Amino acid sequence: MKNKAQIFNKLLKLTLDYKFAMLTATLMAFLAVGSGIGLMMTSSFIIASAALQTPIFKLQVAIVGVRFFGIARGIFRYLERYFSHNITFKLLAKFRIWFFQSLEPLIPSKKFDLTSGDLLSRATEDVESLEHFYVRVISPPLVFLGISLLMFILLGIFDIRYSFIFSILFVGSGIGIPILTLILSRKIGIELVNLKAIIEETTVDYFQGIKELLVYDLYENWKKEILSLQNQILALESKMNKIQSLNEILAGLFMNLTVAVLLFVAIPDVNTGKLNGIYLSVITIGIMASFEIISQMPLAFQYLSKSFESAKRLYDILELPYAEPKKAVSPNIINNNFYNLKVHNLNFSYDGIRNTLSNINFELKEREKLAIVGTSGAGKSTLANILAGLLPPDSGEILIGNTSYYDLAPEQIRQIISLVPQKVHLFAGTIRENLLFAKPDATEGEILEALQMSQLQSFIERLPKKLDTYIAELGNNLSGGEIKRIGIARALLRNTPIIIFDEVTSHLDPFTESAILDSILKISKEKSIIYITHRLTRMDIFNHIIVIQNGQIVEQGKHSELIKHGFYYSKLFYSFAKRLE
Ligand code: ATP
Repeated sequence: MKNKAQIFNKLLKLTLDYKFAMLTATLMAFLAVGSGIGLMMTSSFIIASAALQTPIFKLQVAIVGVRFFGIARGIFRYLERYFSHNITFKLLAKFRIWFFQSLEPLIPSKKFDLTSGDLLSRATEDVESLEHFYVRVISPPLVFLGISLLMFILLGIFDIRYSFIFSILFVGSGIGIPILTLILSRKIGIELVNLKAIIEETTVDYFQGIKELLVYDLYENWKKEILSLQNQILALESKMNKIQSLNEILAGLFMNLTVAVLLFVAIPDVNTGKLNGIYLSVITIGIMASFEIISQMPLAFQYLSKSFESAKRLYDILELPYAEPKKAVSPNIINNNFYNLKVHNLNFSYDGIRNTLSNINFELKEREKLAIVGTSGAGKSTLANILAGLLPPDSGEILIGNTSYYDLAPEQIRQIISLVPQKVHLFAGTIRENLLFAKPDATEGEILEALQMSQLQSFIERLPKKLDTYIAELGNNLSGGEIKRIGIARALLRNTPIIIFDEVTSHLDPFTESAILDSILKISKEKSIIYITHRLTRMDIFNHIIVIQNGQIVEQGKHSELIKHGFYYSKLFYSFAKRLE
């Protein structure tokens, strides 16, 4: 997204739901600053009058005014804070939900290759910096306009010349100082947002690969890199602080300049009797109080460039091309009880240049066991992701029963097909929580059965806290095989009519592998199974085997038939058998 007006409009649109609350908060802010001006003007009137020994009864209205403005200022400030904080938190929640909702359909996108650190910084830092959009960016300029008008009217009561002199200097400083700030801080703001993103991305990336850093003695390099980034951020933040100090100096300078110019014009009016001398102090103090809002204006502009940069980074992702999520055309087919899977002329490419899968055709009948084999990089996992509705095919058709995938929403597909991916992801939490993910209302009996089937029962029994054992992030305190088996148990709990197992036995010893295959045999009495593997053991248990090479099916049939043919499959099989010898 290049156009700043477009970004501003989009941000504004997201805040429109709270327009009444925002207007109320802005009105309260205006009334708080206005009451401050009123308080200062009435109290200076009383002090100046007292110096001239004015009788007390003549000051009655002013005394009431001081009380009123004094109390009102506190109340309005409280209400302004209450409403604006309320809006800020609601906006933050709204920005977060908007970002995650927009992100969701992007995940299966082929072009989605951002690192998790980059995404993290966009989802946290950038979304959070948008929270200032209302409080710092929208509200102060509106209050500034209101105060300009108020002071124009108040000074006009004395002399319209005062109004114009004030307006020129007040509006000039209210616009000039922030523009200067914007010019000075624009690049720094953008650099800061980007550097913070880089430091977050580097930290996450390096934390995930900390073992490699240690093994290759790169830990010191990493420390140096992070320190250098941190120093760059500190240097930029120090520049930002200097600009902010400059703003404060300039705001003070302009305030005093406005007072001096007005005194220069008003003092002769006192001499000629056009203006009561008491009002000289009232005007002076009133002007000083009105400059309170000027000090907030540069911040508005500073945050504006930050908000723009953050919004741009968010929109950059959300405008990536992705497959439009399909609306379900077919009614719920979960009760159809007819789950034959047919794949017809399926093609898929990640980059639009090289075909990862070409012309894939096969059929999986209900309660059949299909094995997909092939060398590394042949396209097996890609096919699994397409079948699980995680990637949209470029062309061709997949049917469940008689219903095409094109007529099903991805959620409907996943009610029928579950996938144990090659890299099982475990979330930080207990084993139970990680299992219940698949079926939140699963009974203890169902959990136990899933654990037995996935050969996890004895492992869980040995844990002091059993199912309530805490799993570290990414399952870091578990072995590769244990992670895989939790993935299998999770899919079994889900209890869909078709289950895809992608390389689930790759981390297992031959005994556990065999036991898992026994379990798969058992569950295949009720379910259809797709078993992706490059470990060609017990292949005779499968009804059908398809062999993929470079994204194409080069052979298919039963194990005995394929061995008899003596082509690619038999070569794969014998070379694997030789490795086992
Ligand atoms: P393995 O047995 O090693 O898991 P596989 O048969 O499952 O391999 P896939 O993971 O499907 O192979 O990958 C098929 C091809 O697609 C590979 O060349 C791989 O580099 C490429 N590929 C996989 N994922 C992506 C992606 N997200 N973007 C671009 N190319 C990809």
